[in-house]
Amino acid sequence: MAGKSDPTRILILGGGYVGMYTALRLQSKLGRREASVTVVDPQPHMTYQPFLPEAAAGNVEPRHVVAPLRRVLKRCHVLTARVTEVNHEKRSVTVEDAEGISSDLGYDVLVVALGSVSRLLPIPGLAEQGIGLKTVGEAIYLRNHVLAKMDAAANTTDPELRKRLLNFTFVGGGYAGTEALAELEDMARYATRYYESISREDMSWSLIEAAGRIMPEVSEKMGVYTVKALEERGIKVYLNTFLKSVENGHAVLSDGTEFDTDTLVWNAGVKANPVLKNSDLPLDERGRVKATSHLRVEGHPEVWAAGDCSAVPDLSKAEEDPNATCAPSAQHAVRQANQLAKNLIAALRGRKTEAYHHRYAGSVAGLGLYKGVADVYGFKAKGFLAWFMHRTYHVSKMPTFNRKARIVIDWTLAFLFRREVVSMGQIQNPRADFKRAASS
Ligand SMILES: Cc1cc2nc3c(=O)[nH]c(=O)nc-3n(C[C@H](O)[C@H](O)[C@H](O)COP(=O)(O)OP(=O)(O)OC[C@H]3O[C@@H](n4cnc5c(N)ncnc54)[C@H](O)[C@@H]3O)c2cc1C
Repeated sequence: MAGKSDPTRILILGGGYVGMYTALRLQSKLGRREASVTVVDPQPHMTYQPFLPEAAAGNVEPRHVVAPLRRVLKRCHVLTARVTEVNHEKRSVTVEDAEGISSDLGYDVLVVALGSVSRLLPIPGLAEQGIGLKTVGEAIYLRNHVLAKMDAAANTTDPELRKRLLNFTFVGGGYAGTEALAELEDMARYATRYYESISREDMSWSLIEAAGRIMPEVSEKMGVYTVKALEERGIKVYLNTFLKSVENGHAVLSDGTEFDTDTLVWNAGVKANPVLKNSDLPLDERGRVKATSHLRVEGHPEVWAAGDCSAVPDLSKAEEDPNATCAPSAQHAVRQANQLAKNLIAALRGRKTEAYHHRYAGSVAGLGLYKGVADVYGFKAKGFLAWFMHRTYHVSKMPTFNRKARIVIDWTLAFLFRREVVSMGQIQNPRADFKRAASS
């Protein structure tokens, strides 16, 4: 425990939206003698997830959609390690670095910002075959993977193999899944001009959604529009349908459809970071840390939580449903981080804290170059205007001027010289050539 004159030790778990924005505000508002701030994350950067589909599609350089924590948080301590346990009773957090070395960190104030992971279902073959799109590594992998499958299809004369290589299946029709599918299809469609033997009609792109509509983040009307826009591009949208199995790449859907695929992208929702189960903090039935509307963890005033890993009351819906909690979204995460930092500073200085209140504004989504859908505070837009709104909104929210500038330059270069559609397949197995040389 810090002595009376020692700075308060603030430990932030996770350096994503909530962790990074909270730390940014704390470092600018708190003096060094008042507090020391440490951020722990296994990645040395914050990932701006809404840009991952564009990074996967080659419109922006993957390095530009991340904000390097050490550069941005110059007045904080940044620790590149994974949290493995939280023992709040002892005010101790166990972390493990990339070398597998564990150590314990003490704290006076804790901020839990551990985000979420893909929510998987026990579908045979899914764990072996599927991939998500939550990290920059997955974005790079997917881009290389799609282009590598097109390269392989161009080489084969086996019609069955070719069909399988050119089948790209996406599960989950929220904004993350729909944008990922639409951006990658747009890239592959563009890439076909460089392949003599592959046209868009040779490829099969499909979206499988268990609910009766896609994009629940926008109004029903805009969801219907998005389905139509995808179908006009030759994308098959299965509604009220779920994936039953995908063993050895053989997909079976609940409506009886069967096909072979080498590409299964899973974006069917998220769940709170499971490492929270290794903590003595109160969790709800969905594994989220129970937080109050002031963003304090229930029963522990010196612990704060926000973002995807937390169950924060949604006061904007309190009249219809007093138990409503905020949905996992960047929109809430950024605003909660600001409120959390303000409240934390107020608490340190003996002032009053305020409740978090935000009415969900709607959403903007990119569906490939010059295509999009938007529904913000009731204002609805489609096509070019929505795409422009999507780009303007997200570049304005991208942390740091440096990253904003790099992204705008990427877009300009892609506009002037067309996007790059070359697979850097070697990245997936960088030691292969070296091993081959050694064995010969
Ligand atoms: C493809 C995609 C598109 C999206 N588009 C939109 C959109 O258009 N609009 C919108 O509102 N939302 C969007 N979202 C959702 C939004 O990105 C998330 O809701 C937001 O990132 C949540 O912020 P967070 O801080 O809670 O979690 P994150 O930003 O995920 O941060 C969690 C951090 O914790 C770190 N971490 C994980 N495990 C550990 C551990 N054991 N120890 C230490 N650190 C750990 C992670 O590395 C990460 O940096 C999108 C998400 C995706 C995947």
